[in-house]
Amino acid sequence: MTRIVYVNGAYKRYPEAAVHAEDRGFQFADAIYEVIEIRDGRLVDATRHLARLARSLRELDIPAPMSDAALMQVIGQVIRRNRVRDGIVYMQVTRGAGPRDFALPPVGTSPTIVVLARAQRKGWSAEQAEVGIAIKTIPDNRWGRCDIKTVMLLPAVLAKNEARSSGAKEAWFIDAHGNVTEGASSNAWIVTAAGSLVTHPLGAQILPGVTRATVIDAAKLEGLKVEERIFALDEAFRAREAFVTSATNIVMPVVRIDGRPVGDGKPGNFARRLRTRFHHVAEISAG
Ligand code: PMP
Repeated sequence: MTRIVYVNGAYKRYPEAAVHAEDRGFQFADAIYEVIEIRDGRLVDATRHLARLARSLRELDIPAPMSDAALMQVIGQVIRRNRVRDGIVYMQVTRGAGPRDFALPPVGTSPTIVVLARAQRKGWSAEQAEVGIAIKTIPDNRWGRCDIKTVMLLPAVLAKNEARSSGAKEAWFIDAHGNVTEGASSNAWIVTAAGSLVTHPLGAQILPGVTRATVIDAAKLEGLKVEERIFALDEAFRAREAFVTSATNIVMPVVRIDGRPVGDGKPGNFARRLRTRFHHVAEISAG
């Protein structure tokens, strides 16, 4: 349970943790967010997550609400005040509150910041990885700047809901050419017959996943070949293995895509190996 939430300078009790009715995050999705894994009371890849948060803010010209050092203090406090040892920290920054107007608010408007931490049962992800997950594919109907981590998540919400209705845990977005871009809340990977790891190249079509970057580091340290290139859904159907990466799932094997088994229909060795290596390669820091 989340007990305490940081909102604009104050640590609030959960029932009272609120932002203004005319917050631009609420009215326009004029906001960005980040999610960091907390593991054994420590932060995983905080530097990369804070760098992406800063980039998302820069891309949208939202002023940073505080320095990285101050934000790390707040994150640490939120983790301690909620007594989270394993779980996630979620932070969101919006362009602030003011009378509803498409035009940007006056310079000097304070951004809104919310930071919360939530415990997750240790081991849930490892248990899920033992059986893997199913994927449902959905046409990619998102906007042209998926590289910015905005809270404009309605397409992902609907895609995941559709996936759940069909018995799948995650959706993969398919572009107009039949290529896999990424998951609704994860990056998508396949392993070729020759044993290369393939994932969509960085660019406006996908979120530059922090887990994706660290898995690339881990793969290279393991001597595995990584190809950052476009791959078609057809290639995914024929892949030896598939998996998704995200801060909450780490490396999660994919065992079925649209009802068809991937490889032998069981979690594969590449995914298992990368999952095991991940936390040895990621940056682990005090919260
Ligand atoms: N793509 C999308 C669309 C996502 O929402 C996420 C998770 N927020 C990711 C990829 C994975 O990113 P990360 O590894 O930084 O959690």
